[in-house]
Amino acid sequence: MLYFDHSATTPLRSEVKELMRSINENNYGNPSSIYSLGQKARIIIETSRKQVADAIGASSEQILFTSSGTESNNQVLWTLIFSIKKHVITSAIEHPAVIKVLKNLVPIGISHTLLPVNNSGIVDMSTLVPALKKDTGLISIMQANNEVGSIQPIKETVKIAREYNIPVHTDAVQCLGKIPINTSYLGVDFLSLSAHKFYGPKGVGVLFVKDKKKIRSLMIGGGQESGLRAGTENVAGIAGLGLAAKLATDNLSSHTKHLKELETIFREKLNKISTDVVFHIKQQNCLPGLVSVAFPGRRSDILMARLDRCGLAVSSGSACSVGNVKPSVVLNAMSVDDSLNRATLRISFGAGNTRDDIEELVSGLKKVLES
Ligand code: PLP
Repeated sequence: MLYFDHSATTPLRSEVKELMRSINENNYGNPSSIYSLGQKARIIIETSRKQVADAIGASSEQILFTSSGTESNNQVLWTLIFSIKKHVITSAIEHPAVIKVLKNLVPIGISHTLLPVNNSGIVDMSTLVPALKKDTGLISIMQANNEVGSIQPIKETVKIAREYNIPVHTDAVQCLGKIPINTSYLGVDFLSLSAHKFYGPKGVGVLFVKDKKKIRSLMIGGGQESGLRAGTENVAGIAGLGLAAKLATDNLSSHTKHLKELETIFREKLNKISTDVVFHIKQQNCLPGLVSVAFPGRRSDILMARLDRCGLAVSSGSACSVGNVKPSVVLNAMSVDDSLNRATLRISFGAGNTRDDIEELVSGLKKVLES
């Protein structure tokens, strides 16, 4: 199987796998225990915290470990129930781990406004100030979109938010290792990450919190994570996340170059086999290695199934909506018409892909399109 769905998840790096194996075998102490076996586990967690902090221009005290990007987003949004200001501004193209949460918060008095995006999938910043209300308590806009890869103007958002004293959260789950992330530069108050998107383990996430007084715990119990995320820590997972974060940032420029090269070759070759394909986003201002492309007159679920039979794994829309043939909300927000929307595949390259893989993908697509 050739894998082209790295936006859904990535395989574990071998170094990360080995580190986790060794920790699971040798460092099974509870990090809250005060004898040495426990303290060794504590040191492993704090080492990872420093690695993550360094990777995103933060300090260790600002890093909380969670179970996922989903949990990190939830923690920020559910904190609003304790806030006097209960209105949230977000974008129309957020992941369900933001949009669905906000829908669930409506009956308990937290309202939200969705900002529109242009046809390149970028939030229309002219709509931000008019959307502000007296009780706007949070702006949550993703750093880059998971379906089309469009990169959002977070620094500009923070600049406006500061004038009104409103905190900003960004879901940067798709970004680490693909574009630089620097929390000090961006100026955000909260930022979410997920290890399995950057060759780390599944089930471990990060919430960057600029000021811990501004966040509440979702998980209540022991005092782990400064009382902000109760539950005995997933020591091996956290260690794997830290190492994966370090490697992702150490290799940022070579990885980005590799992804851009594969993407360029793919776009050129695809244009040669089929002249009517529609690329939803040009190769600018978007994540490297992610191609959202429509095959007019086709259905994405059928294309995907046929490619799977050829040993090629690609996605339609986001991973979380697999099996769901409804048009993508993201493409809809970008004003893509319904028939093109349903004919769209998302192809996302990764570290393990080669030029030969692209040849195979393009010839598989040719075969499927001709059949
Ligand atoms: N946010 C974005 C932008 C994502 O792409 C994803 C996963 O696809 C998530 C959040 C959820 O992350 P996790 O799988 O760690 O829960």
